[in-house]
Amino acid sequence: MEIAFAFVFALVVGSFLNVCIIRLPQNLSISVPRSHCPKCKKLIPWYDNIPILSYVALGARCRHCKKKIALRYPLIEALNGFVGILLYLQFGIGIEWFIFLGFCSAMVVLATIDIDHRILPDPITLNGIWIGVLASIVLAPSHPLIPRAMRWIGMEVTNPRLIAFIASILGIVVGGGLLWFVAEAYLRLRGIEGMGFGDVKMMAMVGAFLGAPLALLTIMLGSLFGSVIGLAFIQFNRKSRNYELPFGTFLAAAAIIAVLYGEQLIQLYIDRMIRPAL
Ligand SMILES: [Zn+2]
Repeated sequence: MEIAFAFVFALVVGSFLNVCIIRLPQNLSISVPRSHCPKCKKLIPWYDNIPILSYVALGARCRHCKKKIALRYPLIEALNGFVGILLYLQFGIGIEWFIFLGFCSAMVVLATIDIDHRILPDPITLNGIWIGVLASIVLAPSHPLIPRAMRWIGMEVTNPRLIAFIASILGIVVGGGLLWFVAEAYLRLRGIEGMGFGDVKMMAMVGAFLGAPLALLTIMLGSLFGSVIGLAFIQFNRKSRNYELPFGTFLAAAAIIAVLYGEQLIQLYIDRMIRPAL
């Protein structure tokens, strides 16, 4: 029952994400006007706006003008529904599930807008930073390293919410700071902007939600995806070497993996690589 709720709820959110993906880059309101067909401008009634089902029932065409509906809409809905299920399997249904579904949904929107326009809109990334700090304080996950580090500089911190707040701020500094450093170095060395500062703000947001260790994991995984998939894509499509990759898209995919399996991946890394070396 709960898993069905997780799926359906995430599907409905996915339907709203489609609206954000189209409207945010154009600076349009995401609440008004109501959804309408981009071709004939007719309002879409609620029964034609049910995630995935309506797409199938309508045969992928607008009820009025019969123009094709892009396959991307149901795909984004299905992707979000799938992420909703994976989050449920990891966290169950609770405050964690809702917060991380919100975070992953924002990542889906950023990933798609970056593919379409090569931008990562400030309304998502900048608001995501302070929402991430608040979410961390609410969730207050355990951060065994923070009290130790604070004791090292002579401060005793025991309040779990204060620890979570410090971890979130550290996440912003490490996640955003590292990408800022790379972007700045790239700009100085090659004289071109290899990475937009949208990526910097996006990683500050990821750090705010997930803390420094998972933000670092996100950058590592994102760079790995970017180099493997990106280079294969450039090769396959015979694009020029200066073809601008949507790095934000790779970071977004990496961030979702970090939410779901980051703790396990880091533990695995410590067990396999660090322990044997000691
Ligand atoms: Zn139409």
